[in-house]
Amino acid sequence: MAPGPAGLTPVFERAPQGTEKRVALTFDADMTADQGPRAAAGERFDNPALIETLRRLKVPSTVFMTGRWAEEYPDQAKAIGNDPVFEIANHSYSHYSFKPDCYGLPVLPQKEMAADVERAFAAFRAAGARNVVPYFRFPGGCYDDRALQSLAPAKVTAVQWDVVSGDAFAKDGDAVAEQVLAGVKPGSLVVMHCTRSAAPVTEAAIRRIVPELRARGYRFVKVSELMAERG
Ligand SMILES: [Zn+2]
Repeated sequence: MAPGPAGLTPVFERAPQGTEKRVALTFDADMTADQGPRAAAGERFDNPALIETLRRLKVPSTVFMTGRWAEEYPDQAKAIGNDPVFEIANHSYSHYSFKPDCYGLPVLPQKEMAADVERAFAAFRAAGARNVVPYFRFPGGCYDDRALQSLAPAKVTAVQWDVVSGDAFAKDGDAVAEQVLAGVKPGSLVVMHCTRSAAPVTEAAIRRIVPELRARGYRFVKVSELMAERG
């Protein structure tokens, strides 16, 4: 996307309200820079079953990956980033917040913001991921004009969403599916997670969401496609 007003990083939330039934499912592969010891103790921040289901159902998807996640799971980052079903976008290296007061996340100093995003792209390259797109999702979705200004040198488009799946810490896949099915409109962008420990029922929800939206005439697209056909 072209730069926003005053050179700020542009922000994309959904395609313009149209009649074409397209929807983009996005999956945040969260892992915070300080969670290495938890991963070493056995906590799983990945979700291979979810990725496998998206592949099997042929659902084009965008994975917003943190650099720290790619370092923890380089083989998966490479496999996702070489599979045409997926594209990898940037969810920061550290998963620290780009704005104060964001769900208790540690806050990144302003002067480190662009470097944190670049460091994630470097981690994707180091893992051998190829299908990487210049989109960025703020950790927690939290941002302000200072953050948009600081990220301008990184030349990314910030990507938010219009449908919250509610999969974080959910215990009931059907409830997540119902929330998504109730919220999707033509051109919607849905936020979900690819992090088993924090979003354990996402794969089950997907198995319901995908056939039901297809039955309603929806086509799944990556964010790049949703954005390309924009307005
Ligand atoms: Zn996140």
